[in-house]
Amino acid sequence: MQLCLYLCSIFSLTTIFMSVDLSSPYYKEPGPKLDHESPFESMMERFRFAAEILNLDEGIFQYLSTPVKQVTVSVPVMMDSGKIQVFEGYRVIHDDVLGPSKGGIRYAPDVNLEEVKALAAWMTWKCAVVNVPFGGAKGGVRCNPKEMSQRELEHLTRRYTANMLEVFGPDRDIPAPDMNTNEQTMAWIVDTYSMHARRNQWAVVTGKPIILGGSRGRKEATGRGVVTCVMSALNKKGMLANQCSVAVQGFGNVGSISALLMHEQGSKVVAISDVNGAYYNPKGINIPMAMAYAAAHQNTLDGFTEAERISNQELLELDVDILIPAAKEDQISKENAHRIRAKIIAEGANGPVMANADSILDEKGIMVIPDILANAGGVTVSYFEWVQDRQGYFWTEERVNRRLTRMMRDAFNNLYTVSEQYKVTLRQAAYIYAIDKVARTLKLRGIYA
Ligand code: NAD
Repeated sequence: MQLCLYLCSIFSLTTIFMSVDLSSPYYKEPGPKLDHESPFESMMERFRFAAEILNLDEGIFQYLSTPVKQVTVSVPVMMDSGKIQVFEGYRVIHDDVLGPSKGGIRYAPDVNLEEVKALAAWMTWKCAVVNVPFGGAKGGVRCNPKEMSQRELEHLTRRYTANMLEVFGPDRDIPAPDMNTNEQTMAWIVDTYSMHARRNQWAVVTGKPIILGGSRGRKEATGRGVVTCVMSALNKKGMLANQCSVAVQGFGNVGSISALLMHEQGSKVVAISDVNGAYYNPKGINIPMAMAYAAAHQNTLDGFTEAERISNQELLELDVDILIPAAKEDQISKENAHRIRAKIIAEGANGPVMANADSILDEKGIMVIPDILANAGGVTVSYFEWVQDRQGYFWTEERVNRRLTRMMRDAFNNLYTVSEQYKVTLRQAAYIYAIDKVARTLKLRGIYA
């Protein structure tokens, strides 16, 4: 019970963690979607389950439930009106057992410390799942970026960074973009931090423009990670990609790249969709053509004539081998789970499968590749960016992709083994694997006294 209370205090009420930042359409380190009705309960269910299976001792659990650092700062900004406005900024380091902490910074009017704490913890588990040597962190500034000018945002970012000089650092804590922050935000952080350090410090953030030490391959990293997981799943199930049909919900960065890479694997992508509706062609959709169409039509598929128009709900229920929900949270619930016919679901988006649908899908024998693994390609290439910055040697896109594929494949196989060992779903296996990894590392390091 006490363990639960500790966890409850960490993963407490949070809002939806979705980021649709058009100024940086491809790189974010978004957090999980935590259930609307009981934001931390869906998360808690999984943690409780993993804790019980691992039989973690209470002290370790208490340690892992408590952020190592929580910093709140006031961020004064001289606004364009000539008036000073003071914003509240946060940075939470959940844990640095596996390495320097890593996690995005979000700007939003409703950001609060509790939300940031929950997201920081989630980053710990996500990094552990894909075996990148980082702990978990998250940051935020409570502001409304949509009402601020570029100059005001720059001043906000620079002052927030200056106030966090003792927290951030290539060996300490490495921010990245998240909701309403982007490559430009990261460039300002690099510059501010570097000015104080009296030398260039590219590795202090990831998600930078390539010209400023960013990594090639980032744009496609999340979709590539999704498809790598799907390929590994097919392998386990003895299925061949070129004999599979695929439906992809969402045709933004993650959805379109996933669709493209499945198409390149020889799969028949029979349905795609965006916010306005879905498109179905049982003969298969020419994905490069659909991408060109969307690019020429303000990133929508409106008016796409190469397929029949269906609803997003119908897309989810199509008789396909692989379903990739890559749009938003809460798409598959206990209401429609029993109508899902796919054999494999790869969660490109955060939280498309609600907690209450997990057991129904499991009973139907559907393999769900959980978001914490399936969309972790982005954080993996973040790690590559940090490595390249520290080496001062930048990899080709081919090398980035090769290494990403290897890490995602290994991560999938690890979780698959854990799921077989404990006879649990891949989602439960992800939490078991992550918590166990951090706990074992912590035990080896011991508690500094
Ligand atoms: P995006 O904004 O580029 O694309 C979102 C797509 O979903 C668009 O095509 C939009 O029209 C569509 N969409 C929105 N609402 C929809 C609905 N109700 N039904 C069907 N389609 C809908 O976003 P993205 O970067 O591709 O991210 C998609 C999801 O993946 C989000 O959950 C995001 O948090 C998650 N994610 C993204 C990344 C990344 O690197 N981009 C990394 C991890 C997780």
